[in-house]
Amino acid sequence: MTVSADTRPHPDFPADFRGTALRPGDDRYDAARVLYQGRAADEEPALIAQCIDEGDVAAALRYASEQRIPVAVRGGGHGSDGHAMPGGALVLDLSPMKAITVDPRERVVRAQPGVLLGELDAAAQEHGLTVPAGTVSSTGVAGLTLGGGIGHLMRRFGATVDNLLACEMVTVDGRKVRADEAENPELFWALRGGGGNFGVVTTFEYRAHPVGPEVVAGQLIFPFEQAADVLAGLPGVMAAAPRELGLLAAIAPAPALPMLPEEAHGRPVLVLVPVYTGEPATGAEVIAPLVALGRPLADLVTKMPWLQANRMLDAVAPYGKRMNLRGGYLPALSTGAIDALVSSAASSPAHPGGATTINLWCMGGAISEDTSEDAMAFSREGAAWLWEAVGMWDAPEQDAQYARWATDLDALVRPLSLTNGYTNLTEDLGAQWRRGVHGSEAKFRRLRAVKTAWDPYNLLRFNKNIAPEPTP
Ligand SMILES: Cc1cc2nc3c(=O)[nH]c(=O)nc-3n(C[C@H](O)[C@H](O)[C@H](O)COP(=O)(O)OP(=O)(O)OC[C@H]3O[C@@H](n4cnc5c(N)ncnc54)[C@H](O)[C@@H]3O)c2cc1C
Repeated sequence: MTVSADTRPHPDFPADFRGTALRPGDDRYDAARVLYQGRAADEEPALIAQCIDEGDVAAALRYASEQRIPVAVRGGGHGSDGHAMPGGALVLDLSPMKAITVDPRERVVRAQPGVLLGELDAAAQEHGLTVPAGTVSSTGVAGLTLGGGIGHLMRRFGATVDNLLACEMVTVDGRKVRADEAENPELFWALRGGGGNFGVVTTFEYRAHPVGPEVVAGQLIFPFEQAADVLAGLPGVMAAAPRELGLLAAIAPAPALPMLPEEAHGRPVLVLVPVYTGEPATGAEVIAPLVALGRPLADLVTKMPWLQANRMLDAVAPYGKRMNLRGGYLPALSTGAIDALVSSAASSPAHPGGATTINLWCMGGAISEDTSEDAMAFSREGAAWLWEAVGMWDAPEQDAQYARWATDLDALVRPLSLTNGYTNLTEDLGAQWRRGVHGSEAKFRRLRAVKTAWDPYNLLRFNKNIAPEPTP
């Protein structure tokens, strides 16, 4: 992974910037450039501008615009491409901007771009509410929302962008604008799925929903030998399931739990992760058909607080590992797709400290049926399941082996996948992929027109880039 910029920012950073500007060698520089993607540690940004408010964002962007310096943006630091800290670049680090306000009467939550999902969840749950978002608490709201946002609640309430009411954004030349259905609607259309291409968002405004405090959730662990049969039964069960049931199926290393045989620890198993947010008393009945798909080694489904359910996956998401990520949409969980995923899991590299996980997210319900494909940049047309393959390891010498695993898996699963996809749960797969990932050619052209209007010189290019039309 090499993400680098040629242009070094000028040493005299603007005087009206009130945050902290960190350069290589400064005390807090190394801590500031740590990302979830461990391979980012190989890169040294030229300057990390830690912004404390939108005034700082505007000052830094005015400076970058005047000098025509490309700008990278760091929100929560979870982006798998490491675009948040490219070598040699000027980085706007928004992590100090952490304000959250909850209006419980209107059920509206506002969050700044340094907020992490665990913080958003905790603030909203104080009022019995939640914003539908992702499943690992250290993920940032910013990148997640701009890409789309999927999680345990997507079948019930849709993607995060389906619940986004407005953004406040600083333009590349330092102006503050609002984007919602009434004001700058075309920009708002693009911000809901088009990523960080158009400006720097300083506030996200969301519709929240009552959830919890108790839900029924946990893990059903099946032996690897049953994986193909259990997966084959999932579409039928989920077609009959209520929207309140979210489901992730993961082929992952077995956790070292006392109820699992010791020889199974660390070897692949199939884990179903149901999260039921309907009436808890009916949870067992709703989840029973999943249990009946095989003979689970362990049934760890139980009542638990929503806050706990929505951070269950933290345990398998350690910060700072070297990682790769491939993903896409499947129109159906066909036998061919199941074979490809199960055989890839069986051929995963095995190193101490390394792991591979293949996730399948069940779509359907609100995310698939309640919002039309052309309503926003985020695409979901035809997607019944979202697959995601994650490799995590420690040593740079193992990069090639995990890259090969991801490439081989991709070669098997990509031909079965749709052209459109979810940008956040895969690495960037190149210009042709970027052209189709938001759906139709008309959507791509519309995105490019918005990019050209708001960032004609492509200063925001460290992202899944939508290149502007060439300037005359
Ligand atoms: C362990 C893990 C679990 C995940 N789980 C989920 C999940 O459950 N659901 C899901 O939908 N996704 C999930 N993701 C993917 C996640 O949505 C993306 O990685 C997302 O980019 C993270 O956003 P961030 O702000 O943390 O990342 P960053 O790396 O900080 O940002 C990613 C990119 O977003 C852009 N950006 C960030 N902030 C701004 C801003 N304020 N204005 C303009 N552009 C900005 C920049 O281009 C930046 O490079 C997960 C990722 C990981 C690593």
